[in-house]
Amino acid sequence: MNSAIPIDALTEAEAAEELAQLARDIAHHDAAYHTHDAPEISDADYDALRQRNAAIEARFPTLIRADSPSARVGGALESGFAKLRHRVPMLSLDNAFDAMEFTEFCTRAKRFLGRTEPLTLVAEPKIDGLSINLTYEHGRFVRGATRGDGSEGEDVTANLRTIQSVPAELLGKAPALIEIRGEVFITKADFLALNQIQAQAGARVFANPRNAAAGSLRQLDPRITASRPLSLFAYAQGESSEPVAATHWAYLQRLKDWGFDVNPLSRLLDNETDAEAFQIKISLARSGLGYDIDGVVYKVDDLGLQRRLGFVSRTPRWAIAWKFPAEQATTVLREIRIQVGRTGALTPVAELEPVNVGGVLVARATLHNEDEITRKDVRVGDTVVLQRAGDVIPQVVSVVTERRPADSVAYSFPDVCPACGSHAVRPPGEAVRRCTGGLICPAQRVERLIHFVSRPAFDIDGLGDKTIQEFFNEGWLHGPADLFKLPEREGEIAKREGWGKVSARNLCRAIVARRTITLERFIFALGIRRIGATNAKLLARHYGTFANWRAQMFAASQIGSDERVELGSISGIGPTIAEELTDFFAEARNIAALDELAAELTIEEAVHADASDSLIAGKTVVFTGTLETMTRPEAKARAEALGAKVTDSVSKKTDFVVVGVDAGSKARKAAELGVRTMTEAEWQEMVS
Ligand SMILES: [Zn+2]
Repeated sequence: MNSAIPIDALTEAEAAEELAQLARDIAHHDAAYHTHDAPEISDADYDALRQRNAAIEARFPTLIRADSPSARVGGALESGFAKLRHRVPMLSLDNAFDAMEFTEFCTRAKRFLGRTEPLTLVAEPKIDGLSINLTYEHGRFVRGATRGDGSEGEDVTANLRTIQSVPAELLGKAPALIEIRGEVFITKADFLALNQIQAQAGARVFANPRNAAAGSLRQLDPRITASRPLSLFAYAQGESSEPVAATHWAYLQRLKDWGFDVNPLSRLLDNETDAEAFQIKISLARSGLGYDIDGVVYKVDDLGLQRRLGFVSRTPRWAIAWKFPAEQATTVLREIRIQVGRTGALTPVAELEPVNVGGVLVARATLHNEDEITRKDVRVGDTVVLQRAGDVIPQVVSVVTERRPADSVAYSFPDVCPACGSHAVRPPGEAVRRCTGGLICPAQRVERLIHFVSRPAFDIDGLGDKTIQEFFNEGWLHGPADLFKLPEREGEIAKREGWGKVSARNLCRAIVARRTITLERFIFALGIRRIGATNAKLLARHYGTFANWRAQMFAASQIGSDERVELGSISGIGPTIAEELTDFFAEARNIAALDELAAELTIEEAVHADASDSLIAGKTVVFTGTLETMTRPEAKARAEALGAKVTDSVSKKTDFVVVGVDAGSKARKAAELGVRTMTEAEWQEMVS
């Protein structure tokens, strides 16, 4: 996941492109994890993406995007559900991983309260499910939402009504308004049965019970939720129009009276020293429980003390989750299978002799990447140690070398893509090997098509992600060239559900209109790695025509050729990007797909970045104030490349003064002399 370029060596243009890519990738993984409940990468790899993003932003603060992943926490909401604000925020808990950390928590709490006597605690097994907030008005269940980001969740009221352990009406007397929190979960047995049904139906198999519960609750059709065996344990309160108990333990009893299930293993502990024994007892009982737990939550029992203790940001000082160590098991590795991700990344997956790890049958585990396999020397036939921690995908931790078969051979990572047979290359310094068959690889097709029609590329109106997927499923789209065959299906499209004559005609017109395209859009649309809009423009301007570009790239594939040197010396391109291009052109089937596509199109000649025909050739330019989209040296270099003369002071000979933020005397002088001033945006317009 670490990119080829050290952050110190990134140019501003590269940084901007990588931030855009990271924003897309992280959003994709967030959606896979939270919205579709199907993580595609390990938590460690995901964290690495976020860290890289943060490090680039730290070096280039002006490039921080409006949609920057650092501005969002996980758990983005899917559009299908209305948002619902919690009256009292839903908290997240601090974790302890051993007795010492637990003791520190107790010591901190007592010091805060200025007391020496022991704390009375309530211990509750921590269910690995989905936290929800239920609102009852006058004893009736009126609304229910997922935790979401803690302040705002998704309205899943209709789905919650289908769960038997969510009472429609509270039994006995209840406050006029009360928010009750709990965990929706699925038992281990139901999880396995559900996955079997899913597998038989060819549907998605869930990674773990937590994902299965979340995926089942967050169905747009409540009938699907109703068909899933979900349960609920209640354990906390949010807003309440009147106090219902003086202690948390008493509150749990009220919950039971109202008709909720409360985890029967919950206990009231007279003092914190009893916690260790309780922790051991539950960890021993864990694998025999019908549901997944990943630790025990300890809460200060006295609600008055809870109020005094309060919060540190979103974390209460009165509760802690003491987590269990990860669960491990050993089994035999049957096969290493290579999955190809939507961006062409090759990910190794261990196919295992199924084994029970903490009550869940595991038949597959992640091996992360090529280096991890080498480092652990994992081989087919090995007995391996597996680990499953919470909702993390099971992983291979180590090899039991004593049990290695005599004829075992070291694993060699494939250098061709198993999905399409194209070369799979691993740029120096990168952890991930990638398929180079972007245009032809089935694993990457849908993603490439979506990119192809996106706004900076072919910008085809009416062709959104869903439509692309729909037409792809229909078998109409194998590669981008097929998009231009869609108008032949206008009649068929018009008859589809959700379409009509007008929308089909509009779509086909939009496609036909794009048969003529600029070279830069065309290059960008190919989706070659690191060739974003900026680099595509540089290439288009440098090479002018499609035919010339194609021929030059072909020739540049030869290391040491003049064409290769020329490519690497284009300002803003550099050797890393040059390599991505030559990798693409080295794959014969990419060329075939490229030519098939080009045959459908009229690709316009690009305007050369020739000094003589630029609007600013021969002009004298002064930059003043702080520029926002480029550095001063960058602005100067760009202007000079287009034939302008850049000076530091304003005189009568000055043609333009480009005024940035907080411009001072130079802007005033320009006004006095009647020299034309322009904003940075106007300047960009002029030189682009
Ligand atoms: Zn491939």
